[in-house]
Amino acid sequence: PGPEHLPAVTERPTLSFELFPPRTPAAEPRLWQTVRALEAARPDFVSVTYGASGRTRETTRALVRRLLRETSLTAIVHLTCVGTSREEVSQVVREFLDEGVRAFLALRGDPPADAEDWQPHPDGVDTAADLVALLRRIEAERVAVSPAQAVRATVRPLSLAVAAFPRGNHATGGTRAQDVQSLLAKQEAGADFAITQVVHTADDFAGLVEEARSAGVRIPIIPGVIPLTDPGRLRRLEQLTGVPAPAALVGRLDAIEDPEHRHEVGVDATAELLRGVLDAGAPGVHVYTFNQHRGPLDALERAGLLGHAHDDAPDEAPGEAPGDTP
Ligand code: FAD
Repeated sequence: PGPEHLPAVTERPTLSFELFPPRTPAAEPRLWQTVRALEAARPDFVSVTYGASGRTRETTRALVRRLLRETSLTAIVHLTCVGTSREEVSQVVREFLDEGVRAFLALRGDPPADAEDWQPHPDGVDTAADLVALLRRIEAERVAVSPAQAVRATVRPLSLAVAAFPRGNHATGGTRAQDVQSLLAKQEAGADFAITQVVHTADDFAGLVEEARSAGVRIPIIPGVIPLTDPGRLRRLEQLTGVPAPAALVGRLDAIEDPEHRHEVGVDATAELLRGVLDAGAPGVHVYTFNQHRGPLDALERAGLLGHAHDDAPDEAPGEAPGDTP
C-alpha cells in the first residue's frame, strides 16, 4: 500500500534551542534562569555549543553534566574536530558517552581566523563527515565489548546531527552546491538529521531542501532561526555568517525608539518566519537563543507553537555576546 494507506499521525513540529556555555561565572545564574524557562516549553532537545579546537571543552562539559543531572532536558552536544588529533577527539567522545550523552552535533569547526600559518593536524579528523564516521565507530566498539553498553544502545540509540548551510558556508567560502555534497557525505557516514545555519526567510530554507533532496539527501533538515528582535545582532550575524540581515525589517526596528514596541515588531516578524518554514515543510524549528528566553518564547507563542503558557519572566540582562553560535 502507498503512503495514503498509512495511519495519520498528529504532526507536532519538533522544538529545540541552542545554548552556549557561560563565559563567566557571573553569567551562570542568568543562563540557568533561561534554562528553566526554556525547559517549561518542553522542547525535544537543547543543543550546547563547543568552541573550535576544544576551546570550551570544560565549560561545555560542565553545562551538559548539569543539564543531564538537574533537568528533564535532552542535550545534544556540539563537537568540533578541526586542529585536534584523532586520539584527542576520540577521548572527548568517550568522556561524553561515559557521562550519558547520547546525541552529538558533529561539526568540523573553523581554524582560528588570525593564524595565517595554520596547518591541519597531521593525524586529525578533517571533515564533519569523518567525525560522524568516527563517532559511529567508537559507539560500535563500545557495544561490541560491553553487553551493558549494548543494552543501553538499544534503549537510547546514539543520534548524530550535522550542520547544513542554506546560503553556503561563508567561513569556508563553500557554495551551497558544495555544502549539499558535504551534507550527502555526512548522511552516508551515518548522520541522522541536519540543523541549518540561521535562516531569515522561508525561501532560503526551502531552496536548500529542494537542492539537497535532488542530490539524494533524505535525512530531516531542521531550520535554525533567531528571534528577529535586535537589529544590532542581525547586523553582527551578517558579518559572522554571511547571511544577509533582513534589510527592511532591520530598518524598521532601527527606527523604533521604544524597546518594548521594537520587541513586539521583532516577535511578529519571527512568528511569521516560524510559520513560513513550517509551511515550507520543516519538521521542526531550532531556535538560537543567545542564552536568552524572552525573545524565543514570545515568538514561539505568537506562532502558536507553545502548547501551554511559559514562565513570562523577562530577561533581566542583555545576555552574552554571540560567539561560536553560527
Ligand atoms: P564540513 O562538512 O566538514 O565542511 C567544511 C568544508 O569542507 C565546507 O566548505 C564543505 O563544503 C567542504 N566539504 C567537506 N566535505 C565535502 C564533500 N564531501 N564534498 C564537497 N565539499 C566538502 N562551530 C563551532 O566551533 N562550535 C559550534 O558549537 C558550532 N555549532 C554550529 C551549529 C550549527 C547548526 C551550524 C550550522 C554551525 C556551527 N558551527 C560551530 C560552525 C561550523 O563549525 C563551521 O561552519 C564550519 O566551517 C563547518 O562545519 P561543517 O561541520 O559543516 O564542516
